[in-house]
Amino acid sequence: MRSLTFLVGARLAMIAALALAACAGADDRSESPQRLAIVGATVIHPQRDDAQARAPDSTIIVSGNRIVAVGPAGAVAIPYGATIIDGRGKYVVPGLIDAHVHFFQSGNLYTRPDAADFNASMPYAKEIARNQARLPATFKVWLASGVTSVVDVGGPFWNFTVRDAAATTVAAPRVAVAGPLISTIDDPPLDLGDPPIIKITSAADARALVRRELARKPDYIKVWFIFRGDANIAGDEAIVRATADEAHAAGVPLAVHATQLAVAKAALRAGADFLVHSVDDAPVDDEFLQLAKTRNVLYCPTLFVHSGYRLALSNRWQPTAAERRLADPQILAMMHDLDRIPREMIPERVARFIAMPGPDIPPVIAMKNLRAVWDAGIPVAMGTDAGNIGTLHGPSVFREMALMQQAGLTPLEVLRSATTYGAKAARRDRDIGAIEPGRLADLVILDDDPTVDVENLSHTHRVVKDGHVFEPEALMRSIR
Ligand SMILES: [Zn+2]
Repeated sequence: MRSLTFLVGARLAMIAALALAACAGADDRSESPQRLAIVGATVIHPQRDDAQARAPDSTIIVSGNRIVAVGPAGAVAIPYGATIIDGRGKYVVPGLIDAHVHFFQSGNLYTRPDAADFNASMPYAKEIARNQARLPATFKVWLASGVTSVVDVGGPFWNFTVRDAAATTVAAPRVAVAGPLISTIDDPPLDLGDPPIIKITSAADARALVRRELARKPDYIKVWFIFRGDANIAGDEAIVRATADEAHAAGVPLAVHATQLAVAKAALRAGADFLVHSVDDAPVDDEFLQLAKTRNVLYCPTLFVHSGYRLALSNRWQPTAAERRLADPQILAMMHDLDRIPREMIPERVARFIAMPGPDIPPVIAMKNLRAVWDAGIPVAMGTDAGNIGTLHGPSVFREMALMQQAGLTPLEVLRSATTYGAKAARRDRDIGAIEPGRLADLVILDDDPTVDVENLSHTHRVVKDGHVFEPEALMRSIR
């Protein structure tokens, strides 16, 4: 064996040289080594307690698309011929997971005509066609931000095609999907023949739609539980229960959009497995926490999305440093189209926003509820709702994680949410979300310590997905 392997200490200079060679000439095509060794890095294990989470001077060995060894650099043998990445001074975390995205939306102003109708300046059909054609670039921006898995919690039936495309694309995150949302209300502006949202008025119709979606093997069935003052919450709860029963009979969990405390509780009673938004109208109470805990529910706080709408539709949206580097440049270039759209073509609602933008305040109730839900021991999965106006695919994860940290989670807890619990949301918690032998090789190599500040999660050196190594700058160059 000795002749086939060499130990780390003796070869550091060579490692540096090899690491440089491995990067030279890299573009959007990744390296796809049979064997990969990341040598001498601080490996972060977010699933462990604070005291055990950091393992300095560690080496990770990847063979094909799996992690095969992790341990102290002096004790892990590097296979002969392995591609070596010098990890000294670097930090390695599991690939990030965004548990709440929508590929049918782009994040620009034209992507939700039900919220702001810009059809006069950009027909919605053109926006949807653009989003479909741009999918390979959208996949790349996710990887460039270190996000190696996403959960699309609802869209048109063509969402299933998105999942198929990601599964056969090297430069793409792993994608789990739900199909059209089973909704308590209608949303005609989004209906181009394959609507993302379908109004259902009876339990029988709910079961029929679930069966149509089950034929496509969804990862989730999703309910849009929108409650307005005059609605019948008990009647809607019965529809959600029928939806849950039909999904559960096929072994598929139920994701629910429910933002008010009373509605979220109704969703939990009806069988929700995954709440994709915060409760944001009132503090969560013991009844809610008890329901969520005993039913083993996942909670996704989705804190930034409303600010995204407010900022973009009042023409005050500004890219963060991470977004300037890592967002789709096509979308970035559109974010200030309100500067050039003639006044008479700006929707009335948006014109009012521009005139009176109102304060940009963080979602205070949702942030307090995040801390309460976390302290109750309910697993919290990080998710952005990316694709909504102002919430861009990829680097919006850094806005979301900053708000989670601001809500009182430690950087390590935020990372646990984006990996350990994200893997649960992606329904792959044995395969992804941790750096352990046997797991899929989805990793992010960082220049700075993410346990000091979640901001450092955007300081990405390399991204490894399925054993392929990507350089963020090269991914971004390839879509310009
Ligand atoms: Zn959503």
